Amino acid sequence: MENSNEKIVECPGCGIKLSNRHLTVLGNYNASGECYQKYSELSSYTIGKQDIYFLHQHAVDAYSLQHSGNGMKPITTSFSLIGLYYAVEKGFNGRQVQRVHTLLSLQKYNWKELQPLDKSVYSLTVFDVLNEQPGESRDKMIRKWMLDVWECWEHQHSWVKEICDTLLK
Ligand SMILES: [Zn+2]
Repeated sequence: MENSNEKIVECPGCGIKLSNRHLTVLGNYNASGECYQKYSELSSYTIGKQDIYFLHQHAVDAYSLQHSGNGMKPITTSFSLIGLYYAVEKGFNGRQVQRVHTLLSLQKYNWKELQPLDKSVYSLTVFDVLNEQPGESRDKMIRKWMLDVWECWEHQHSWVKEICDTLLK
């Protein structure tokens, strides 16, 4: 009898269940290879847009935060959270968020480790984004996704505001 668990792999970061194709993850993401492959697919789409607002940045931040842990550097997790903060709370586009990251990277700061959340808190994944038609509906879903991830990290919202007020005054 075949074990059904071997056919399906659950992503430790976002909880998405996909057919097990024994794929591996590139980089320090707390993700299944199958989920990471979806992210690569989405990246091709967002980079390919070549839009002046650089929507790609929001997808990077949402995905990284959702898949933090497993050796991801504290600065990467923090920058993702900060990116979502500026996008959601301040209405920054991806290009403006990129500028914030650049300004922050010039600062010497010892970023603390942020504990990843349990995958069950998230209601949207990269898969939901890819299921939308390319164009307006997919781009809208990217925004919904980042909003969901941002809201799940509510316990760190005041820390983010504080650190940005301090470092970017
Ligand atoms: Zn995942």
